[in-house]
Amino acid sequence: MVIPPATFAKKMLAFYDLHGRKNLPWQLEKNGYRVWVSEIMLQQTQVKTVIPYYRKFMQSFPTVQSLAEADIDDVLHHWAGLGYYSRARNLHACAKTIVKDHAGEFPQSLADIIQLPGIGESTGGAILSLAYGKDDAILDGNVKRVLARVFLVDGWYGKSSVLKALWQLSREYTPKKRTGDFNQAMMDLGAGLCSRSRPICCECPLSTHCLAHAQDKTAEYPHRKPKKRIPTKQTVMYLSIDDENQILLNKRPPTGIWGGLWCLPEVSPTGTVIEQTTVFDQFKHTFSHYHLEVDVIKSKGLKTTTLVEDNSGMAWHNIDQIEKLALPTPIKKFLNKHF
Ligand code: SF4
Repeated sequence: MVIPPATFAKKMLAFYDLHGRKNLPWQLEKNGYRVWVSEIMLQQTQVKTVIPYYRKFMQSFPTVQSLAEADIDDVLHHWAGLGYYSRARNLHACAKTIVKDHAGEFPQSLADIIQLPGIGESTGGAILSLAYGKDDAILDGNVKRVLARVFLVDGWYGKSSVLKALWQLSREYTPKKRTGDFNQAMMDLGAGLCSRSRPICCECPLSTHCLAHAQDKTAEYPHRKPKKRIPTKQTVMYLSIDDENQILLNKRPPTGIWGGLWCLPEVSPTGTVIEQTTVFDQFKHTFSHYHLEVDVIKSKGLKTTTLVEDNSGMAWHNIDQIEKLALPTPIKKFLNKHF
């Protein structure tokens, strides 16, 4: 029998009372800003990875005002290593909007909060329910997995029809009271017992009603994204160090890969490089939609290359100081390997 919403909520709230996480850094001194930053950091990233980044971020930018006033370079520097840098840029843009248009306070309705840059319905629901006790539902990756299993929702949730079905379930099953605790319990269940590869159904509060568990189909649900081969792209980057131990870096344009981060200058593979064309080293990196293979050419001057990208951000930096810059992780690894 399909579980009634009231039973579902009761079981999840009892689970929260016994096992829910209540001492994560963003659960202490709770406010909209702290919850919001955690929600953005937790997108595609696990709690244990996020915690040290979150603490450092909060030390540097303790309020929405301090984030709005910060230099974007500084914000990106705090994000370096977490990936998906558009999240940091959106966070910064959103902080400015909150200060400018909302007197530094988060709007208190879902319709208004999702107008802010980078805040979707689930993040908005999390901020409103966890920080302000509102009764809005959420649907992050963990909640999607739990619902897809309990109700055997067919199809990959990147498809809008599947997403719609999951939202419907989430709204129907989210209680009007103690919504924040319920949402936290759902996230905790998805991140813990109902993990993707090995759900521990025998300890789960929903096991007696979960259809995937009853039909031994937990490995099949949620349905996976249909597999697609991703292409490989090649590029050439330039490692240029002068006699004073300064390295030439290029600040990439704000959009596109590694937007706004400091990178080795990228040169066209067909460009003319007079000084030295032998490859000094190579590295690879995989983005969500392609693999990137990079050949690095070393030379003292950058005189004859054809730059692929906008090179208006070129600047020399002391090699001992580059740790202070916002660098993409693969570039950082490469430089750490050699210097
Ligand atoms: S019974 Fe198992 S599959 Fe179902 S929600 Fe619980 S942990 Fe997930």
